[in-house]
Amino acid sequence: MAGLQCHKLLWWMAHEPAAPELEIDESRQAVFDQGHRVGALARTYVPGGVLIDLPYNAYEQRLEATRQALAQGAPAVYEAAFRADWVFVSVDILERLGLERLGPETLRGFCLIEVKSTTSVKEQHLPDVAVQTQVLRRSGLDVGRMEVMHLNRACAYPDLSNLFTRADVTELVEARLAAVPGEIAAMTAMLAGPLPSVATGPHCSTPYECPFTERCWPVLPAHHVSTLYAMRRRALELDELGYRTIFDLPEDFPLGAAADRQRRAVQAGHLIVEPTLAAALARFAPPVAFLDFETVGLAIPVWDGCHPYDAVPVQFSAQVPDGGGALQPHAWLAEGPGDPRPALAERLLAVCEGARAIVAYNARFEGDRIRELAAALPHLAARLEALAGRLVDLLPVVRNHVYHPDFGGSFSLKRVLPALVPELDYRGLAIAEGETASLELGRLLFHGGAMEPEERARLRADLLAYCHQDTWGLVRLLERLRGLAGGA
Ligand code: SF4
Repeated sequence: MAGLQCHKLLWWMAHEPAAPELEIDESRQAVFDQGHRVGALARTYVPGGVLIDLPYNAYEQRLEATRQALAQGAPAVYEAAFRADWVFVSVDILERLGLERLGPETLRGFCLIEVKSTTSVKEQHLPDVAVQTQVLRRSGLDVGRMEVMHLNRACAYPDLSNLFTRADVTELVEARLAAVPGEIAAMTAMLAGPLPSVATGPHCSTPYECPFTERCWPVLPAHHVSTLYAMRRRALELDELGYRTIFDLPEDFPLGAAADRQRRAVQAGHLIVEPTLAAALARFAPPVAFLDFETVGLAIPVWDGCHPYDAVPVQFSAQVPDGGGALQPHAWLAEGPGDPRPALAERLLAVCEGARAIVAYNARFEGDRIRELAAALPHLAARLEALAGRLVDLLPVVRNHVYHPDFGGSFSLKRVLPALVPELDYRGLAIAEGETASLELGRLLFHGGAMEPEERARLRADLLAYCHQDTWGLVRLLERLRGLAGGA
């Protein structure tokens, strides 16, 4: 969610907990589940503690269980609960400091540890830690050190001994503490009053997308300046200068090449094709193959050499020339939780063997994945490196030579295809975008064994259809671009 610093968001969460915007959809649930898995694993890195494992709303029991655990000298308490000044907090890990940890000079009380699934400390982690510290100190606990325990990208499976990094944020949190009582008082008063008025702004989408944006944000006119390619950050400035939509921008307004083409296309109300398109398509002369990967990015790696959040290809779709002028579709999708990379790489090499060039959209992504496969599979490395060298990218061809008003300032395949190849529609597909595909792939690989055979078969079919649509879309997009180049 958006930064919890937004009082309006907090007010709605407190007063409308059943709001439809707060319903947990599958993708939010997947994020929560991942956070719970990371949290549970983090505890094993601060071993020997007592888990306060009680229902969320059993406040008094949680407080009492925490008191008992501390009184009995537990070396750590997980989900330790405290309340002071009417503020209730739960600490991911509360560690009793020992001589061996900090040395005699700094030996003090407890270390408060906030566990995060990120791979670094973020500014937005600190307010939470500050409030927890304040409440614990007001409860009489000697908190001498504060940490954010986050995932470590340098960790490589199977050695998970360094999966977490414990970052000392004591100084950063101490610097904020003086302001915390005032912030808590202001928040308490705010929650007791009417819905506060908060202006919309970057905080609505950074660091997280707020679920209430539709309630708060005014409906923007079509082609608002915020849709200008790569100029979203300057939208407010342009709006204030009186340029509300792209129609308002004068011809000589300084813009990057793609944004200027966007302005011309929007103002003219039709597709613009640069005369340079034909030359840009020379690298795509047939016969060429087409390739698309789908990946999973696991917070806790499970395959050899993988780091937290590595994007590991577990599915591909390809369209490959058959030698007779036609394209042959190919697909590969992993089965079960085992390492998919050796079988995927073998199949990919076999399928793409004879292809002179391989077209991808944003080919850097496919290229990076193939090079990572090469690093993980030394016996196939040379062939995989050669394959990566044959990739050609269609995205810059579109971005640098074509603009349709319906792109809406984006060159993603999901925006470009409906505008240029309108007969190809993702709307009929059960899976229609990449984030859902990645979540569903994770579900299929790691929980497919517990599914009914029909459900599993249906999920596989949906994933295959989605990935096929991406490569078939590339085929049709290249055809369309060739047609446009011919008529440009
Ligand atoms: S959309 Fe923005 S202003 Fe509205 S509640 Fe969310 S963060 Fe606050």
